Amino acid sequence: MSPPSVYKYCFVPMCVSSTTKTPDKLFFSVPRKPELRAEWCVAVHRPPGLSCKSNCHCCEDHFNLAEDVQEYTRFLILKKNNMSSFRLSLKPGVVPHKFDCQSSWINGRRVSRRTAMKKLNLNDAPS
Ligand SMILES: [Zn+2]
Repeated sequence: MSPPSVYKYCFVPMCVSSTTKTPDKLFFSVPRKPELRAEWCVAVHRPPGLSCKSNCHCCEDHFNLAEDVQEYTRFLILKKNNMSSFRLSLKPGVVPHKFDCQSSWINGRRVSRRTAMKKLNLNDAPS
């Protein structure tokens, strides 16, 4: 699969999804509205005070796609038929809520803290 033109990575701590590592995953834009963005940061356990001014994305792992995404069924049908798809959007008020990747981290065992730090540095990576 050819790499997508825009590099995206998941802004959720401990999640390693990115358009290069997991190109088949869906990525959703984090809302630009400051209050919504703050809500998302709290929801995904991002350290407080950490801003993400530019484009941030959250991968599909943190949503229940069938319930959280508008017209997801239509999207699947189009995809299945190799038809041109459309941009998926989340239903209003939906915030990331599934964090399998963080289970050990949240339990206080910050085993992969180094990975998290490395990931944060990607904020400065050229796109
Ligand atoms: Zn993710």
